[in-house]
Amino acid sequence: MAIRLENYLPHKTFAKFQLAADNLETPFLLIDTEIVAQNMRELASCFPFAKIYYAVKANPATQIISLLRDMGANFDVASTYELDLVLGQGVSPDRVSYGNTIKKRKDIQYFFQKGVTLFVTDAEADLRNIAELAPGARVFVRILTEGGHTADWPLSRKFGCQADMVMDLLILSQELGVIPYGASFHVGSQQRDIGAWDAAIDKVRVIFRRLQKENDIHLQMINLGGGFPGNYLSLTNDLSTYATEITRFLQEDFGDSLPEIILEPGRSMVASAGVLVSEVVLISRKSNTALYRWVFQDVGMFSGLIETLGEAIKYPIYTTRSGPEEDVVLAGPTCDSADVLYENFHYALPLDMTIGDRLYWLSTGAYTSSYSSIGFNGFPPLKTYFL
Ligand SMILES: *Cc1c(COP(=O)(O)O)cnc(C)c1O
Repeated sequence: MAIRLENYLPHKTFAKFQLAADNLETPFLLIDTEIVAQNMRELASCFPFAKIYYAVKANPATQIISLLRDMGANFDVASTYELDLVLGQGVSPDRVSYGNTIKKRKDIQYFFQKGVTLFVTDAEADLRNIAELAPGARVFVRILTEGGHTADWPLSRKFGCQADMVMDLLILSQELGVIPYGASFHVGSQQRDIGAWDAAIDKVRVIFRRLQKENDIHLQMINLGGGFPGNYLSLTNDLSTYATEITRFLQEDFGDSLPEIILEPGRSMVASAGVLVSEVVLISRKSNTALYRWVFQDVGMFSGLIETLGEAIKYPIYTTRSGPEEDVVLAGPTCDSADVLYENFHYALPLDMTIGDRLYWLSTGAYTSSYSSIGFNGFPPLKTYFL
């Protein structure tokens, strides 16, 4: 079950990662910003009609923010901290959207004072706060979507509201003096079923038409969210297939005169740009006849691999050994039994692997460093280096 490296990275590129990793102490994440640039170019060429808002939470490194700034991206920001980070990189506030439906009054005020005028909402109380503290702002309302079961890291239930409430909130927006600007959704992160966008875009069409006809409200924007795939063990279509299909869904519902289209990629922008390097700390068996080895290594649930929770995301793991393999249970280094990464799904690792060996976790540029704890069990946060 050894992975084929070239399905994830050209050998030459991996060699660059490996060389850069050689003298660094594990664990750490290495990022090649050239791959981020490629991902940005590919997305822009796949969706030439869309505005790209990078979801900063996927990887907030300033090297990535400044690269995407120079390539013309906009930014989907979720907190005042992310806002300060992005503005601190010289991004102008008209390139920022406040994409978190959960916000304090003082945060709304802070964003508005800094010049941000694009806000998401999904609740009346929040909308009333926006209208009061960011008068005249453009508001888009998030639709509750299904599709959680085909997304490896679902974002359903917590965000968005039913279509009827979306319309009520957009009507209320106008009454309250903010601009009813559009509708958004997120079909779930690492969404493997492209049809999830079809269902969501259909809902948007109904909302656009009904508001136009019954309320004379002309919405201007659809935010298609994130959900585009990173390259992990589970099979996905490639980005161009997503683009072809989603473009077709949009044209079926809106014809050739599309409204403003926003994309909020996080994972797909940065996942493939990262290699996380760990070191094997201990290999053991729980009994003399146990079928599986336990492999403990120095990165775990709390140091960047939280998306292994429920074994949701299965990262491709590469080792430079190539002998016969046997299944293992993979675990992290902390004194917490939740810090077991893969137990039901068995990775096979070489039998001659020894303590001190390195594991290369491919496609780890997204949701690793930004999720790592600041010091559980005294382990420091995951370091990031750049090629
Ligand atoms: C996290 C998030 C994204 C990014 O989603 P990916 O699946 O990583 O592309 C986009 N939009 C919003 C509102 C988010 O919260």
